[in-house]
Amino acid sequence: MLDRTDSPRPLPADAALRARAASVIPGGLWGHMNAARMPADFPQFFSGAEGCRIRDADGNEYVDFMCAYGPMALGYRDPEVEAAAAAALAKGEVGNGPSPVLVDLAELLVDTIPHADWAMFQKNGTDATTACVTIARAGTGRRKILVARGSYHGAVPWCTPSLAGVTAEDRAHLVEFDYNDVATLRAAAEAAGADFAGLIVSAFRHDARKKQEMPTPEFARAARAVCDAAGAALIIDDVRAGFRLHVGGSWEPYGVRPDLSAWSKAIANGWPLAAVTGNDRFREAATQIFVTGSFWCGAAAMAAALVSIRRYRETDAIPHMAAMGERLRAGIAAQAAAHGVALSQTGPAQMPMVLFDDDEDLAKGFCFVSAALQRGVYLHPWHNMFLSAAHRPEDIDFALEATDAALAEVARRFG
Ligand SMILES: *Cc1c(COP(=O)(O)O)cnc(C)c1O
Repeated sequence: MLDRTDSPRPLPADAALRARAASVIPGGLWGHMNAARMPADFPQFFSGAEGCRIRDADGNEYVDFMCAYGPMALGYRDPEVEAAAAAALAKGEVGNGPSPVLVDLAELLVDTIPHADWAMFQKNGTDATTACVTIARAGTGRRKILVARGSYHGAVPWCTPSLAGVTAEDRAHLVEFDYNDVATLRAAAEAAGADFAGLIVSAFRHDARKKQEMPTPEFARAARAVCDAAGAALIIDDVRAGFRLHVGGSWEPYGVRPDLSAWSKAIANGWPLAAVTGNDRFREAATQIFVTGSFWCGAAAMAAALVSIRRYRETDAIPHMAAMGERLRAGIAAQAAAHGVALSQTGPAQMPMVLFDDDEDLAKGFCFVSAALQRGVYLHPWHNMFLSAAHRPEDIDFALEATDAALAEVARRFG
């Protein structure tokens, strides 16, 4: 068999684009999609996608397990979603006010999400998390926001992971606790005291390079309780997990409802949209703050969201993603055991994270995903991955052929 890890296929078009990008774009690309964060044989540029397959700029196809880092959940270029967006675009994307679809979509969210009495729309997840924090402060007249150490809530100064360009004042009113640790949560609430405005928490613990953790029921209930005791807002950051775990919100199975939720990523199956949903307690505060964006009322993404959310509600899309994730997880677990490779698979099956034991420098993880990539499967070595409703059993089985060879490679290289 070709030792593909040692002789990756060349990507001449990608290399040419990267060389051009290097001179006109700082670092070649900003943020999470910079391929410098991946093994060297990973492509940076993509020319198309359909269903669960992506095509790089050199024409290689991969079964994709990143789903655009979350936005794709029903399949790339889903015909029904694209048709709805195209019909809205044909009437005009922007105007001096929103299209009527804005009201349809707000009604659908209020009808779908049990805690929601109202909705507001933005473009990015960061817009939504930041608006939630602002509404919590406006509604309580307080400043302190409780946040889990190491969690990701977006890329503006109050929450961005890099401290470059961030002032201490930007973070002055954050109080940290540890995810799933009720004692540190209570201590943070106590430290915030009479200035406790809100607690923002992700649907589950999905920090990069760490094993994922579902919230414990005790932790979820304690989050609600500390907010209730202080009159603070419980904010769930459902930007990443929203519409993949439970259509009504990721903490519905725990019976814990937030005051405010932030949504984006899968909300419109790849069209740019974010939302804040809230309850009546924070309706007045939401009218007081000034938030807006030139493109926030764009009609196409809202039309795409209407179709997408109806599909999450009315079809087996979410259980199907979970089933495909279980199929992948079971296959990898059996292969890892057969090859004698120790690894962990954590988080919900439809948002899996695969990490190798004793792999601080990610050498095993890089070897694994490179070997899979060379066999037509796009995995991530240290970020959670994503399943979609477009993954079929055949796609999972194709991926498992690649992971079997890739795990053999890890076993051969690392013993
Ligand atoms: C992606 C993400 C955000 C930020 O969303 P953007 O659209 O990138 O601004 C916020 N919170 C979580 C949990 C996310 O995964």
